[in-house]
Amino acid sequence: MNNSSSRRTLITSQRKNPPMCQHQPPCPTSDSADRDAARQMAHHPEQGWSLLCNGVLLFEDTGELLPNGQIIAPHRQSRTAA
Ligand SMILES: [Zn+2]
Repeated sequence: MNNSSSRRTLITSQRKNPPMCQHQPPCPTSDSADRDAARQMAHHPEQGWSLLCNGVLLFEDTGELLPNGQIIAPHRQSRTAA
């Protein structure tokens, strides 16, 4: 008897899918590693941010603000202005 598969369903049910995403293939969720590969719903270069389909706010310096309030530090080296 092997009942380890029932545990897996528990974890899956906790995952939230972005309700707004109607893209095919679906955009990566805000908790996946490639979250910034989601499509841009709004782009404001003059303000330095973009809103992605999965609810992530992506800033010009590659910093991110997740829908759950979590802040991701910029992960790309920014050029130092001389
Ligand atoms: Zn989408």
